[in-house]
Amino acid sequence: MDTIIAASKNKHKIEEMERITGAFGIRVISRSEAGIPDAFDVEEDGVTFEENSLKKAAAIMNYSGKAAIADDSGLVVDYLDGAPGVHSARFAGDECDDEKNNDKILALLKDVPYEKRTARFVSVITLVFPDGEKLVARGECEGHILTERRGSGGFGYDPLFLPNGESLTFGEISAERKNQISHRAGALQKLEELIREKGL
Ligand code: IMP
Repeated sequence: MDTIIAASKNKHKIEEMERITGAFGIRVISRSEAGIPDAFDVEEDGVTFEENSLKKAAAIMNYSGKAAIADDSGLVVDYLDGAPGVHSARFAGDECDDEKNNDKILALLKDVPYEKRTARFVSVITLVFPDGEKLVARGECEGHILTERRGSGGFGYDPLFLPNGESLTFGEISAERKNQISHRAGALQKLEELIREKGL
């Protein structure tokens, strides 16, 4: 196996994945490079990150007959019983954006004390092979949800999230530092171990 098809259309994520697989001589190619039509889409209706990530990777693998890799991620807030979770991207409704999603989190956590504002970002990366075998790697980054936004970097819920042990939010921190401690970094590191164990 020398190539894997990425289910994600996000160039940055594809590069991040290839940084890991590249060490094993495996290229990660985009859907368009693999000839998969843009209109081919997968509904993310699973109730876990694992389900959604497998669903996306398996759909691309079944379509192309080649190994495929997909990720699913989101924010899990303890006080909200795990919400927004797999609904992170559209937490404030179909027409929402990062602003509205963050406003909704702040409203739901209004007056909740710091020690009860615990949360984590989760990323699950799944690599599926044509023979049906799969590697599932989960990464988590623990932290707290602040009472107001800090920083304008990153995306999504980054300005509200203060990772444990750090003084800067994900919205303030450097991209280099985020790439060292993030949920996606954790999942990619785990994936690297799994690929090594499998002996690819
Ligand atoms: P997806 O897995 O790329 O679809 O991400 C789902 C959603 O989770 C995003 O739209 C963001 O709202 C949130 N999310 C995932 N990772 C991050 C992150 O690193 N920072 C901020 N928000 C994130």
